[in-house]
Amino acid sequence: MSRIRSLSALVAASLVTAVAFAAPPPVNTHPELHAIAGAVRASNLRATDVALVGFGTRHTLSTTTSKTRGIGAARRWVAAQFGDISKGCGGCLEIVKPAQSFTGPRMPRAGAEVMDVVAIQRGTSDPDRVIVMTAHLDSRRSDVTDATGDSPGADDDGSGVAALLEAARVLSKYKFPATLVYSADSGEEQGLYGGRIIAQYAVDHGWKVEADLNNDIVGNSHGGNGARDPHAIRVFSEGTKSNETLEQAAYRRYHGGGVDSPSRNLARYMAALAEKYLDDFHVRMVYRTDRWGRSGDQVPFLEQGFPAVRLTESNEAYDRQHQDVRVENGVHYGDVVSGVDFDYLANATRLDAITMASLAMAPPPPADLEVKGAVAYDTTLSWKPSPGAGRYDAWWRETTAPQWQHVQKAGDTDSVMLKNIILDDYFFGVSAVSKDGWESPVEFPGFAGSFARSPKLGPDGKPTGQRYPGLSGKYGDHAVGPASWQQPAPGPATH
Ligand SMILES: [Zn+2]
Repeated sequence: MSRIRSLSALVAASLVTAVAFAAPPPVNTHPELHAIAGAVRASNLRATDVALVGFGTRHTLSTTTSKTRGIGAARRWVAAQFGDISKGCGGCLEIVKPAQSFTGPRMPRAGAEVMDVVAIQRGTSDPDRVIVMTAHLDSRRSDVTDATGDSPGADDDGSGVAALLEAARVLSKYKFPATLVYSADSGEEQGLYGGRIIAQYAVDHGWKVEADLNNDIVGNSHGGNGARDPHAIRVFSEGTKSNETLEQAAYRRYHGGGVDSPSRNLARYMAALAEKYLDDFHVRMVYRTDRWGRSGDQVPFLEQGFPAVRLTESNEAYDRQHQDVRVENGVHYGDVVSGVDFDYLANATRLDAITMASLAMAPPPPADLEVKGAVAYDTTLSWKPSPGAGRYDAWWRETTAPQWQHVQKAGDTDSVMLKNIILDDYFFGVSAVSKDGWESPVEFPGFAGSFARSPKLGPDGKPTGQRYPGLSGKYGDHAVGPASWQQPAPGPATH
């Protein structure tokens, strides 16, 4: 018995060593991404942040008529910046201002208009495939309903909006097959309203959103507790899709996929890009949708079934966030420009820009990816071809590993067999690679990993199967997904 076991262990060892560990995807090096990272300027980020703070307050309910103060003036200024960037690229940016009136616990009873300022850089060959970057323009004071007092919001989220404009400036010099969208949201602090507006805009315009990179609090490198790590940024990603059905959840729980949502594989992609292209700046993946009990504009994208992550500085300073500017017992409160480290913010912006560029250059991850190999020694992956792909890479990793480890190249085909790689023992995925070597994120098979908008809809336009109850983030239990998906609430028990 022991002899048989040692023999099989020997065979297994020789098979495993035959498969070399690989650098995680994307594998190829593209000088364009070095150039994009190199073009980001800390001085531009500072100028934007100072200008935003100069509006006094950017509270969602602040004045919209003043030329110098409040959210209206700030929105017009951001639109003018997009306009200037567009002039420099032959009109490559289309500027739209989707708006909607909301009421809610942090909004007037009669409702108030929330407006986003959005720049769209249309893709050259696959314009419906969209990579979104979001940040929120609005700011707040200790009292979230105080719309008149000063509220600088230099880091939360002036830093994110500065990154947004700088990414647009740098990326506007290039042409991409897919569309890039830069959205300066309002209404975040009042209840993620601006995120809901742009996510709904994506749905209404039939966008296939492959990623939302939500930048919120990305500019400070000094933790309020003295902790400091200027060489890392946290990327938060959900492990399982927020709108999977109970049936899909049951399948995923048994077979795996709990740490392989498209959002998670987007985070892995960003981590690999940072290692390859950024100078000592790293992604700390956090396996959560957001910080504990907190939320952000990536959540409305997740609720609409789109992959999304949140970028937030490695160490936060809570004395600065959501606080009136004041000194109390020698402690400086308030979100002022001196709390922003613009070299740190520049690295965060570089990560955004190279991620957007790499995603937009690469083909989409393959559709309808499946894996087979139960009670067999080989594992087979099959998929529908991705437009623009010249070949595919099959990836796998230990089930406990955070990053993809092994790769087998497949040609311009729709399936690949991995000889003597046992399906039971690893997690698998496939990336699509263009003819000139641009690689998509790795996609995990089945519903759990698909980058396609989820859930699949039945003929009645509603998701098939019963879904989990709505997310219960900080901002309450609003239903998940658009109104047309909603199922009637269960009636009172009758037995
Ligand atoms: Zn924020």
